[in-house]
Amino acid sequence: MNFSVADHRPLVLTGMQPTGRLHLGNFLGAAYHWRKMLEDYQCFFFIPDLHAMTVATKAPQLQDNTLSCIAQYIACGLDPAKCTIFLQSQVTGHTELAWILGCITPLGQLERMTQFKDKALKQKEFIGTGLLYYPILMAADILLYNADLVPIGEDQKQHLELARDLAQKFNSRYSEIFNIPEPYMGSVGARIMSLQNPKEKMSKSDPSAMATLHITDENSVIRKKILSAVTDSQNDITADPERPGILNLLNIYAAATQMTLESAVEHFKDHRGYAAFKNEIADVIIALLEPIRQHYLSLREERDYLLSVIHEGAMRAQARADTMLSKVYHTVGLL
Ligand code: ATP
Ligand code: MG
Repeated sequence: MNFSVADHRPLVLTGMQPTGRLHLGNFLGAAYHWRKMLEDYQCFFFIPDLHAMTVATKAPQLQDNTLSCIAQYIACGLDPAKCTIFLQSQVTGHTELAWILGCITPLGQLERMTQFKDKALKQKEFIGTGLLYYPILMAADILLYNADLVPIGEDQKQHLELARDLAQKFNSRYSEIFNIPEPYMGSVGARIMSLQNPKEKMSKSDPSAMATLHITDENSVIRKKILSAVTDSQNDITADPERPGILNLLNIYAAATQMTLESAVEHFKDHRGYAAFKNEIADVIIALLEPIRQHYLSLREERDYLLSVIHEGAMRAQARADTMLSKVYHTVGLL
C-alpha cells in the first residue's frame, strides 16, 4: 500500500482505549465496521493510551493492555499494510490541541456529558479532572487529522457532537481550518449491552467478569457467558424494550450474522424457552471470534513486530499532525 501524501480518499479516524481486553461491543459496534473501510478511506486507527489514564492503572498493566490492543486490532482484520495504527502518546499534538480547544469549551457542556456522570459515579473515591477533560482530548484526536468520518458506537455520540461544536466554534472565532467530522454508526451492533445488566452497555471497565464477552475468550467461556446471560421469566423471543436481556441477545445475533433485528426475531419466532436460543447465539459468536483469538495469540508472541507497526504508524501520523498543529498555532496567534 502506498501511504503517499497525495492520497485523496476521505480520512477516517477512530480508536479504542487500552483499558482492558476488547469485547463483543467493541467488535460488533466498532472494529467490524472499521475493517470494511480499509479500501475506500485513509484509515487512522489509533490507541488512545492517554485516555486510558482516566482509569487508575499500574504502568506494567497499561503497557500490557496497549500491546494487547495492537494485537487485537490486527487480529480483528485491521491490516497494517492498509491503515495507519499508532499510539496517541507517541504523536505530539494531541494534548497541545486539546489545551487550545479547552480554552473555547464551556465548562457546563463538559459537566453535562453522560459518560462523565456515569463514570464519575463509579469512581467514588477519586474523580480525576482527566475524566472531565476526556471529551476535549477526543475532539483534539479527531481535529488534529482533520478527519472526515469518525466511526463510533452510540455511547460516543455526545462526544462527537462536542468535537463538531468545537470545530465550528474555532472556525467562526478564528478561521475556517477544521472539517466538521461526520459520525459513522452501523445500524445493528451500535450498542451491545452487558450480559448481566442489560440496561447498561457492555464495557471494558466493567468489574463483573460474566457481564463482558471478550473477543479473546475461549470457546467454552463464550458459551458459559451467553448461557448465563440475564433474561426474564417469559419463554418466547420478542424484540421488546421492556425485555432488555432478550433484546440484547437478539441484537447480538443480528449484528453477528449481519441480518436485521426483524429477521432475527423471525428466525427465532417458534422457539420456546431460552436454552436452544442461547446455544445458537453462542455457536455464531464462537465461529466469529475463534479465528480472531487464534490470530491474536500468535501476534502476542511477536512483540517486535507489534512495536514496528506502531513505530511506522506514529511517523505517518506525526507528519499529518505537525502540519495541522502549525496551522492552528498560526491561526490563534502563537508565534
Ligand atoms: P471503557 O469502559 O474503558 O470506556 P469501552 O468498552 O467503552 O471501554 P471504548 O474504548 O471507550 O470502549 O470504545 C471503543 C469503541 O467501541 C467506540 O467506538 C465505542 O463507541 C465502541 N463501543 C464501546 N462499547 C460498546 C458497546 N457496548 N456496544 C457497541 N459499541 C461499543
Ligand atoms: Mg468507553
